[in-house]
Amino acid sequence: MDVLPCGHAAHDSGSRGCAHLVAERPPDHYGRFTGVGMAYDRVCEACAGRDDPSLIVLCVGCVERVEDHSDLVDWIGQPEVRHRDADPGGTWTTADCPVEPVNAWCAAALPDGWLVLAEAGLVRVDGTGTTFVAPVSLPVEPPDSWPADRPRPAVHTSPDGRHAAVVTDFGRHGVVLDLVTGTPVLALDRGDYRYRHTSFPVAFVGTDSDAVVVAATDWNRLDAVDLASGRLLTDRVTTWSGDDPKPEHYLDYFHGALLLDPSGRWLLDDGWVWSPDGVTVVHDVAAWLGGDVHATEHGRQLAARATWDVPMAWLDERTAVLQPIDRWDRPAVAGVEVHDVVDARRVTAFAGPVGRMWGHDGLLYVATAAGLEIWDPADGARTGLVEGFTPIAHNPRTGRFAELAAGRLRTWTPPA
Ligand SMILES: [Zn+2]
Ligand SMILES: [Zn+2]
Repeated sequence: MDVLPCGHAAHDSGSRGCAHLVAERPPDHYGRFTGVGMAYDRVCEACAGRDDPSLIVLCVGCVERVEDHSDLVDWIGQPEVRHRDADPGGTWTTADCPVEPVNAWCAAALPDGWLVLAEAGLVRVDGTGTTFVAPVSLPVEPPDSWPADRPRPAVHTSPDGRHAAVVTDFGRHGVVLDLVTGTPVLALDRGDYRYRHTSFPVAFVGTDSDAVVVAATDWNRLDAVDLASGRLLTDRVTTWSGDDPKPEHYLDYFHGALLLDPSGRWLLDDGWVWSPDGVTVVHDVAAWLGGDVHATEHGRQLAARATWDVPMAWLDERTAVLQPIDRWDRPAVAGVEVHDVVDARRVTAFAGPVGRMWGHDGLLYVATAAGLEIWDPADGARTGLVEGFTPIAHNPRTGRFAELAAGRLRTWTPPA
């Protein structure tokens, strides 16, 4: 084995760094993007200030010592953002639509149209017109002096279009409505502790004939309710007085936004823990509803991050995408991480996507002010831009996106 420039007869790490980091206790360092993908060189503070620092190949041991003993203080330059835009194609519909959603989180897909929360209540809209469904009244959220996100209403729909949840993100309350009768069927309340720091945790799971809603009923507890019978499916004890020894199934985790994968088995949970750090967890819904009542107290940790309440999406039934590229101990990079939830492993990360996003047919769609970007995670490149189109809802079955703006409902469906 040859001796590498770092002075060690060891394996080449494939990355470079400045010689000042070759030490038993390396100083803190900076990541200097090379311009190829997410690759970066490691440099000390003095070298970070130079335009063209002298770099040597580091062995795997040198890189390990830097990773273990030295903090990455900041990034220098930008990672590569790949664009190979082509005509996105797809099919359009446009219709007059006077319904104005309360905000961009107040529209959701129905099998044959869209459900919108307007000032007057829930309205069904499609290419042919609008139908008023029901008024909605949510408890007023109490004022909170803690600097947190502003409470905002949000709408979720069940895949069969039978039910909707109207919740207050960064708030305590919500309600599930039957869209056929227009009546509330379940009040949601996640308790009075630290609810201002996440979107309301709620998701519809189960099949068409078996409607089940999952929602937080406390800061550290999710429950599942059968909507046909109103029956609680996940009865169990999750409390702890704090005095006795901690119970085996006690969960020290604040649940956040929930997102179900296309197969209906895995539930992403965008919550957090003290100090505070974001921790993305994946729950096995099939196991939970199949009798493992504490499954959501023992979710699989996918990532420990500095932030939470970030855009998330599923590319397929095992691949989740998180924004930004973030680790709890270093500055975030604008882009996405791709995780395999079955193997609990980060598959890749690529720079570029910033904004609300959806996955469909293995591609990633990101709403930006310029339009809807299409990204191919296979090589981390942007492959198209649907210019001037900023959707606020997506139908995961048909692939169709909806934009409601300026008195018009516009939809765009990607090519099959
Ligand atoms: Zn240096
Ligand atoms: Zn070395």
